[in-house]
Amino acid sequence: MHELAIAESVAKAVLEEMQRRSGQKLVAVGLRIGEFSDVVPESLEFGFDVITKGGPLDGVKFHIERTELRANCRSCGEQFRVRDLCFECPICGSRDVEIVSGRELEIAYLEIDDESAAVHGEPSRQAEGNSTV
Ligand SMILES: [Zn+2]
Repeated sequence: MHELAIAESVAKAVLEEMQRRSGQKLVAVGLRIGEFSDVVPESLEFGFDVITKGGPLDGVKFHIERTELRANCRSCGEQFRVRDLCFECPICGSRDVEIVSGRELEIAYLEIDDESAAVHGEPSRQAEGNSTV
């Protein structure tokens, strides 16, 4: 299950980034994964859960965005969506094509809790009289 290794390296990269933004609270991580990248999103989400449990990234949500598999025809220059792994140009029928997207595996964005930045200097009013459990 190589998704676990991928989740691990993503978590590491995210942690490094958050160290640079000290004091900010991370809410979610957005990942861009191509539909041709040989990664099962569900397994990756599961792997991320396992890895972050009990650590500094515990509770952080993991959003996966899939990108289409697209190719560029070297014969006529047409760019097209590859369906059912049919790597054939729909315009000229050439099979001399180059994949231009669909193999991504990258961090698209980090979602930061805005309030964590605003908390500084705000008088805390929620500290008292809140005893309902
Ligand atoms: Zn073509």
